[in-house]
This record gives sequence, C-alpha cells and structure tokens, in this order.
Amino acid sequence: MIQKPKGTYDVFGKNSKKIIYFENLFREVMSKYNYEYFRTPIFEASELFHRGVGETTDIVSKETFNFKDKSDRDMTLRPEGTAGIVRSFIENKYYSNPSMPVKIWYMGPMFRYERPQAGRYREFYQCGVEVFGSNDPLVDAEVISIPVNIYKLLGFNGIKVNINTLGDTESRLNYKKALLDYFKPHINDLCEDCKARYEKNPLRILDCKVDASKSIMDNAPKIKDNLTEESLQHFEMVCKYLDSMGIEYVIKENLVRGLDYYTHTVFEVEANIKKFGSQNVLCGGGRYNGLVSTLDGPDMPGVGFAIGIERTLLALDYENINLIDEDGLDIYISYMSENEKAFAMNLVNILRLSGFKTDLDLIGRNIKNNFKQAERLKAKYVIIIGEEEIKNNILTIKNNISYEEHKIKFDDLIEFFDTNISE
Ligand code: AMP
Repeated sequence: MIQKPKGTYDVFGKNSKKIIYFENLFREVMSKYNYEYFRTPIFEASELFHRGVGETTDIVSKETFNFKDKSDRDMTLRPEGTAGIVRSFIENKYYSNPSMPVKIWYMGPMFRYERPQAGRYREFYQCGVEVFGSNDPLVDAEVISIPVNIYKLLGFNGIKVNINTLGDTESRLNYKKALLDYFKPHINDLCEDCKARYEKNPLRILDCKVDASKSIMDNAPKIKDNLTEESLQHFEMVCKYLDSMGIEYVIKENLVRGLDYYTHTVFEVEANIKKFGSQNVLCGGGRYNGLVSTLDGPDMPGVGFAIGIERTLLALDYENINLIDEDGLDIYISYMSENEKAFAMNLVNILRLSGFKTDLDLIGRNIKNNFKQAERLKAKYVIIIGEEEIKNNILTIKNNISYEEHKIKFDDLIEFFDTNISE
C-alpha cells in the first residue's frame, strides 16, 4: 500500500469540519476588517525565498523543498506566505493603488522539511495578512488585533501575546554591534549554527533553541538600550493602541522571530499547553519595512502575521473547544420505487437551490432503512415520494423530531420549509 509522504496528513471526518469552520471564520473576520484576498503560486523561483526570507534563516538554509523544472530553473515550494505576496504586490504594481494602505489576506499550504512531530509538519497550512504602505503604529496594532480577535471568537482562554521591537535600520545596526562585542569572548560557548549566525546575523543568536538556556544569553545586550528615539516612539505608540483596545500583551525582550526581514514590531501569539513546548506559538508576525525594496519594489513599509492552522486546531482540542457544527440536514428525501426517482431528483435539486441542506437516498434503501439514514444525518424533515404523491401533486412531509405529518402541495413546499426551518 502506498502511504502518505512523511510529515503530511489527510483531512477527513471531524477534522474536515473543524478546518472548514476555522477557515470560514477567518474569511469572515477578514471581510469585517476590509482586507483583500490574494492567492499566489505554491512554488516560486528559489531566489525569491533566498532574497526575501533570508539566507541565514533555518527555513531557507535547511528546510526548503527544492526542485529543478524541465527547463532547469531552480524552484522552491513556498515555506511561508509573505515573500510570494510581496512578489505579487510588486509584479502587479499594486504599490500604485490609490487606496493605501493595501490590506491583503491569504491562506494555503506551506512546505518546510522539518522533523515531524505533533503540531509540526512538512506540509502545513497558514492563514495570514500583509499590509503595505503605512508606517503608522496603528497598523501594527490593527494587525496584532486580528489573531487576538480570532482566538477570542474561537473561545480560547489561555492566549498570551508577546511583543518586542527590533527598531529601524539604525537601531538594528547599533544593536548588531553591541551583540558582536558581547558575544566575541563567548564565541566558543555557542553552538555551531550560532557561530555562523555571529558572522551573518547575530540577532538570530537570541532566537537559538540550542543555546537558549545558557547563562550568556541572560546578560546579552537588550534591543531597548539600542533604539533610536523614533523607534522607541513607534513601539510606545503600538503599545498605547493595544492598551486602547484592551489587548493584553507581554514585552518579551529576546523575541526576534525566525525570519530576517523584520523591523520595528515583532509579535507572537502563544497558547499555554504544557505538552506543547515550543509548539505553543500559534501565530507570529511583525513589521518588515525593508522587504518590498529588497525584492526590487519601491521603498514601502509592510506589516503582517501568519497563523498556523494545525497548531490552532490542536490547541482548541486541548482546551476542549468543539468547533464542529452539529447541525444536521434540513430535509431527507426517499422514494418508493424506481418510478419516482426522476421526480425525487428534481425535488432535491429545487430544495437545494432554494437554500435547504437536502439529501436524497442514492442507493435504493427500503423505508425502514431510509428512516434510519435520516436519523443518522439528523434530518429535520423526511419526504417519502410514492405514486400517489406524484399523481396528486401533494407531498407527505414528516417532521423527524415531533413525528408530525403534513400534506403539502408541491407549489407550497418552499413556503412551508421557509416558515418551518429557521436558519
Ligand atoms: P513562521 O512562518 O515560522 O513565523 O510561523 C508562523 C506559524 O506557522 C507558527 O506560529 C506555527 O503556528 C505555524 N508553523 C510554522 N512551521 C510549522 C510546521 N512545520 N508545521 C505546522 N505549523 C507550523
């Protein structure tokens, strides 16, 4: 038997219902926030991720799925959503859109060659946003409020928002220098990856899972002592706007996030499930003012986040939050014999077009088994079509909860269900 590739999973049964519920909620929230849907390809030129996400990140240096197409071009399955959206934003000249900022949402599969475990897959789904064209800290706060509101609407209790700032380019340069000075005498105490990070991007040493518990980390310089006045002010305003919405957060000084492109605000939304460990991070994001120009677009600021859908659903399970819509069918239709099938088919079609969740016996059950099936599907009403019904154009409708029976003219059927089945 051929099995699914390592680190992937199939969706069916209860899980498919949960995913649909979550995705619909995300779409609805995005519409309320006035964001536009973008869909970009699942594979892109490898160079996009090398330049856009950064050579020093684990996801590009170790975790991408790469292949050559038949014309010998280097392609990569996208490991995250932002680089593709930025490419599309530039390629389609969306930066000249008069209605700034441009607020975009996306949802889809991402691919990282990671060691699979609960909440960590090689193919996983993210949904997220990117906002281009505003430097205002209001945008950072709006973007942070989206996952917070989503988790609130899902009924989560133990959610924590961690935020930090990495400052502007000047602050980052100051900070980089301070980190280089600090880690220089300790370089041999760092892991092999961090030795490379010391050369390429010392900020990422703070993000290292291997070195995290070492005492040299505790005394490392803090970004807040290296911020320019403007960067500090930006961060204070983000905090002020979060306060104004009553959004609670914790300032986590060593939060730098895995991707190279962040400037100013970085944040993550964390669940608090003991078994989860680092998988508790359900959502991560931040501001990336240099990314659009890095990818040959104009100098234009951006802010975004990505929610991990699998981790979010796992966390919901742990919190015993049941997203499944338990609503059954509105109407189940059965027929007495072969002769009534065409009539039944037309009826189910009309009812579906009129907005009722309707199904029809598709394997020719007997009456008893049809009632059992209606029970399994939690149908509110059952219609049984026989010769008489068709001849008189009057249908017998059975309420499957009260067991009441109604005789309704074919032409009055929709009105009957409109009155008796509420949303
Ligand atoms: P990142 O793009 O690394 O900032 O990740 C954003 C979110 O995507 C994380 O907080 C996770 O919820 C989710 N995520 C990242 N990598 C994986 C993975 N390999 N499997 C499942 N979810 C992931």
